[in-house]
Amino acid sequence: MQQLPPFVKNLPRTRIVCTIGPATGNVNRARQLIRAGMSVARLNLSHGSPEDHSEYVAAVREAAKQIGVHVGILADLPGPKYRIGTVHPEQAVKQSGREGIAVNTRDNFVLTAERVHTTSQRGTVWPAGLHHDIRPRASILIDEGAVELRVDKVDGEEIHCTVRRGGLIQSDKAVTAPGNTSTLDYFTDETVAALEFAVKADVDFVGLSYIRNRDDLRAVRKWLADAGRNPVLVAKIEIKEAVDNLNEILDETDVIMVARGDLGVEMPLHLVPTTQKRMIRMANEVGKPVITATQMLESMRDNPYPTRAESTDVYNAVRDGTDAVMLSAETSVGDYPVAAVKFMARVSKMAERYLDTEMLRNRRMAIIDKEGRHAQINSIIAFDAARTADTLRSKAILTFTETGTTADRVAAFRPRTPIIALSPNQKTLNNLSMRWGVIPILAESLAELDQMFGYGANLAKEIGFAKDADTVVLVAGVPIGQTGSTNLLRVITIGDDDQGSS
Ligand code: PEP
Repeated sequence: MQQLPPFVKNLPRTRIVCTIGPATGNVNRARQLIRAGMSVARLNLSHGSPEDHSEYVAAVREAAKQIGVHVGILADLPGPKYRIGTVHPEQAVKQSGREGIAVNTRDNFVLTAERVHTTSQRGTVWPAGLHHDIRPRASILIDEGAVELRVDKVDGEEIHCTVRRGGLIQSDKAVTAPGNTSTLDYFTDETVAALEFAVKADVDFVGLSYIRNRDDLRAVRKWLADAGRNPVLVAKIEIKEAVDNLNEILDETDVIMVARGDLGVEMPLHLVPTTQKRMIRMANEVGKPVITATQMLESMRDNPYPTRAESTDVYNAVRDGTDAVMLSAETSVGDYPVAAVKFMARVSKMAERYLDTEMLRNRRMAIIDKEGRHAQINSIIAFDAARTADTLRSKAILTFTETGTTADRVAAFRPRTPIIALSPNQKTLNNLSMRWGVIPILAESLAELDQMFGYGANLAKEIGFAKDADTVVLVAGVPIGQTGSTNLLRVITIGDDDQGSS
């Protein structure tokens, strides 16, 4: 039976996704991030080399093994998104701790499909194709508006521009032309290389940047299945088209991400908060996890404390019903990565104390009536498990789960009681790392129902969640071994010879 490190009990129920980079890509740092609250490690495959990312994967896996917890790995694909090429090392300057090429307002600047080092006059935009999408007078934003260009003319693969807002151009930052949908095929060379990496590294989650509709998701799922992999798919909602197609994307995906960085460039910034809240509500309704991402604690890149607004931003996202919150530059290249995770955990826990569980359960229940009979039974049992455990003040909800779906279903009802997911399947345990409030634990594969009751009661005691006379709620699907059903709910009183079932 797997033992549980004591700090796990004190972690927030909200999951924390940390982007790994030069600041954190070693075993020592990964251990610190895990102890601070990281549940999922994210690799942004638009930055860094495959060698770097392989090192990061190895470091996170080793750290998780040493500590004895399950940490998922999310590989974020570039998708059909344009980026600026690597800056010229000899022309790079440092401004406020960031390294890049300084360009000035009213300067001329050429974006080219040719592979060159970015200088103050010229830079590569990759993958090649922006010259097909753009017209003179269009606005182009580099790094979410840190630099703004206006197109003067398009000459073959070269886009001649005037700098309208000067600033610092950093390597590999996004290049966006708001209002112009990218005509790139989803499988750009960079995306295929990233998918090949994800397959080789056998990651748990794959993040799909710049998806437009359910077809993009289906195509990636098929590509991965053909390569023998079945990771959890995270649809990053970052362009207007994806917002418009949210219903069909939610149907097809496993998880969504509110990718506010690009979203705030692609649509007027003042519309992002409403869109974020709508996305969280819609994901809650269908019971799929939602990650709120980007600039949550941005100032902690360079400072040991966040701003008041950032603290409130994380707090509000949790209270709105987000399952996970994400850190990007804060943990990949920031000066205070561990402090950022610790702060995120602290403010998330505070928000969870005031979570409107009733409202969140009602959201999910409102949709259940529209599901088929089988789905309805699964959800009702999960709902009852949450309500029963909270009413009885049980010490844990134990879910025996092959594929993770039983734990998923219970988590969607946000019980105050901890959810312990027991599974013999390592992949399932890693996949559950994105689920709100779930503690994944490696367990034996049991063939008999009675064995489950005894095993569950012992485990709850051994890992320090319950003592004699406490109750735990067990939820599972029978017949055992047949996946897909959640149809058994039992209350166990610890220490009762007959397991005190009721
Ligand atoms: C975002 O745009 O908010 C995002 C998470 O994507 P990326 O970090 O790849 O730009």
